[in-house]
Amino acid sequence: MVDTKVSSIVIGVLALQGAFIEHQAMLQRLSLRRHIVVVQVRTPEDLARCDGLIIPGGESTTMALLARKAGLIDPLCDFVRKKPVWGTCAGAILMSRAVINTKKGGQEVLGGMSLTIARNGWGSQIESFEAPLQVSDLRDEQIPFNGIFIRAPVILKLEQSPNSPPIHVIARLPHGIVPTLDYTTLEASIPSSDRLSPSRNAAGPDSDIVAIRQGRHLLTTFHPELTSDDRFHEYFVEKCVLQQVLAN
Ligand code: GLN
Repeated sequence: MVDTKVSSIVIGVLALQGAFIEHQAMLQRLSLRRHIVVVQVRTPEDLARCDGLIIPGGESTTMALLARKAGLIDPLCDFVRKKPVWGTCAGAILMSRAVINTKKGGQEVLGGMSLTIARNGWGSQIESFEAPLQVSDLRDEQIPFNGIFIRAPVILKLEQSPNSPPIHVIARLPHGIVPTLDYTTLEASIPSSDRLSPSRNAAGPDSDIVAIRQGRHLLTTFHPELTSDDRFHEYFVEKCVLQQVLAN
């Protein structure tokens, strides 16, 4: 039955590059009580229609350049300040406050989540991997979620401040399958004032964080849209977007 208070929700998927079709397909397969309209976002006008946005995996530098070309960077930054956004993999990089290991010329970000992330932090494409994740707050949370990590970023540092909403870690990699990180190379690109303590650099307690929720936003360093498990999409629509729509 469709909820009459919210007849339909408009979810945008940034469709400049990367795995946007897969996100769209999964959103369209969800069976929730609300009707979901999915919009491929390529222009500021597309974005203006949306209640929430997914930024897909792909290549963060290319995506940022294409967004700049489309006149989308400022509208996206504004959207991030007001509405729920879920960044997956490259999208997670764009949602971070600071990025290291960027391509030459740097990386434009939208911010929105208080963390520092390392692009390609697990290594190259051949070091991609899958891992069963225990995710708190998902439907049937006792059933592991298969995380697919493709040239994924590594969360280096959460930067909780009194002015930003609390950060909730909702998934970490299980023990024993954490890949070896080349922190020597990564650390060289962090300003010295910002370096992590040696204990955290040695594959420390935060580098296994792979999904977080902060305020209305969601971030995953892996690709739920490449599985047949729709629980993250359901989570984003129900717990991030719908909550915000109902609150307004
Ligand atoms: N390594 C990619 C980047 O820098 C992200 C990879 C992905 O989204 N699967 O943007």
